[in-house]
Amino acid sequence: MNICVIGTGYVGLVTGACFAEFGIRVTCVDNDLIKIKALQQGKIPIYEPGLEEMVAKNMKENRLLFTDNLEEGVRHSLAVFIAVGTPSDHQGKADLRYVKEVASAIGRTMDGYKLVVTKSTVPVGTGKIIADLIRKNQRKKLPFDMVSNPEFLREGSAIEDFMHPNRVVIGAESDQAKAIMKDLYSPLYLIETPFVITGVETAEMIKYASNAFLAAKISFINEMANLCEKVGADVHLVAKGMGLDQRIGSKFLHPGPGFGGSCFPKDTAALVQLGKSLGYEFEIVKTVIKVNQRQKKRMVEKILKATGPVRGKTLGVLGLTFKPNTDDIREAPALTIIRSLEKAGARIKAYDPAGMKEGKKVLKKVRFQDNLYEAAQGAEALILVTEWNPFRNIDWARMKGLLKRPLVIDLKNMYEPVKMQALGFKYVCVGRPTVE
Ligand code: NAD
Repeated sequence: MNICVIGTGYVGLVTGACFAEFGIRVTCVDNDLIKIKALQQGKIPIYEPGLEEMVAKNMKENRLLFTDNLEEGVRHSLAVFIAVGTPSDHQGKADLRYVKEVASAIGRTMDGYKLVVTKSTVPVGTGKIIADLIRKNQRKKLPFDMVSNPEFLREGSAIEDFMHPNRVVIGAESDQAKAIMKDLYSPLYLIETPFVITGVETAEMIKYASNAFLAAKISFINEMANLCEKVGADVHLVAKGMGLDQRIGSKFLHPGPGFGGSCFPKDTAALVQLGKSLGYEFEIVKTVIKVNQRQKKRMVEKILKATGPVRGKTLGVLGLTFKPNTDDIREAPALTIIRSLEKAGARIKAYDPAGMKEGKKVLKKVRFQDNLYEAAQGAEALILVTEWNPFRNIDWARMKGLLKRPLVIDLKNMYEPVKMQALGFKYVCVGRPTVE
């Protein structure tokens, strides 16, 4: 079968490469010509473990092609996946501009039956908007089916998540659409992946419900961490004690500087806006967002409390990306924290294993370093913001000689306070007592 994936970002490129790995011939389309030219030469524009090898293999076997020509992609394909971005607009609603552009272009270029599948995260009702736009732009009346197939992959483990998902959600009306989708995902059927087959609206809602719930879990444990600090309790043990209850589960109960990334902030905002547009105030999600914003501010207060006035002083920051194993810095807590510290007069030296190329575009005053030790050299304090593996194995004896003061502020609780204390550091973390 031939399919095409429109949008070759984190989701589109992984989707295209993984379907090619299933043995399907995939044309990946993007209107960013620089990206397409790089991909045609086998260069991957994003950092995602394992992706480069998978793309190279499938290009070599002639199952994965890249083009900026949407018409070429659509004409040769039975199924057309839409995987373009759906960022927040100024009100927090999902901006459907790119989805609508693509829907109109599919309508204009289709030359026979197509299965049009939305992979982008879109608010309930978008399936209908896409179908209307396709109909409106068709040169002659041609049959098509609309499917919602939201994506749940996580950056940093995207291939594993696509190849071994917890579930596949398919929102479709017609039997033909369901049959094609099942065919496309047949390798996942073989490994007994649960499939949730629903209507289009329900599938669209499942994605927002899942992301909002996960965001709520993060905001919950962050609030719990803040309270633990006040009473001297250890949030890690609280989370462990809670998480062992199977009704709760241990995942997403790690306190930190708040959630970021290209999904949770915009999807929670979009869900609230969707409710508002229908006269419904989604109170829990509104609070989740508020708590998350406050958490980032609290982290800045925590840092300033530990360092004292920072005007003219240098601070070393480790981690810019919103999570490890990605180069994505969209809405990363590190950005808010660094900007606030700069506002307070601090000079920032920073290091991130993959996020510095993107970081340089938006953090103009930061001095980016070649490794984590250079970021610490001459700094008043070392601030850990993202839990990259190399930051879990720091040579503290070396670090002590580089820092001006033995002060470590760990916003991801990567180290044991007693160990840091024994090593002679003042160690400030989240939801656990500070040790000196
Ligand atoms: P992205 O910004 O990385 O990629 C989007 C791509 O679409 C870009 O390469 C852009 O050039 C391309 N594009 C935009 N308009 C186009 C057009 N008219 N024609 C062709 N290409 C066009 O976005 P992403 O992170 O891959 O997210 C895509 C969607 O998937 C979003 O709705 C997002 O919410 C959802 N999603 C993302 C993740 C994630 O972890 N990133 C996970 C699940 C779902």
